[in-house]
Amino acid sequence: MKFLCVECDRQMGFAERELPGDGTLAAVFTCPACNRQVAMLTNPMETQLVASLGVKIGGRTLPEQPMELVRSVMQGGREDAFAEAPAPATGKAHPTWDAPARERLERVPAFVRGMVQRIYADYAAEHGIAVITPDVMDQARHELGLEGM
Ligand SMILES: [Zn+2]
Repeated sequence: MKFLCVECDRQMGFAERELPGDGTLAAVFTCPACNRQVAMLTNPMETQLVASLGVKIGGRTLPEQPMELVRSVMQGGREDAFAEAPAPATGKAHPTWDAPARERLERVPAFVRGMVQRIYADYAAEHGIAVITPDVMDQARHELGLEGM
């Protein structure tokens, strides 16, 4: 996606991207000539599309999940479409979620829940954490720069 500054007839440069907890994606484009800025918000479905392409969000490259979007479309966005996704074949432990952490995960929009769940699960596995609690989620968000989640 590209934006053109109409007044300067210059292509605007990409300035910022974030992934807040409600599943929206904000991108800011800046005109190199007049510094005019345009912000763009996408809905969770589009965010899932962007995320599935392996783009960098918050300085961290999300793992590529080329089939994820296809699966979510085929399943009609069913809420638990990703809930029982098999663990990646890395031999990593598969962390469990305690009840408060699971409740918190339930508040994440369905379209991005699988991705969010995997981010936390990967974080827990990498840190040898067997049970994901809200504290672990806070810690992961802080360390991964995902404060909005
Ligand atoms: Zn301009």
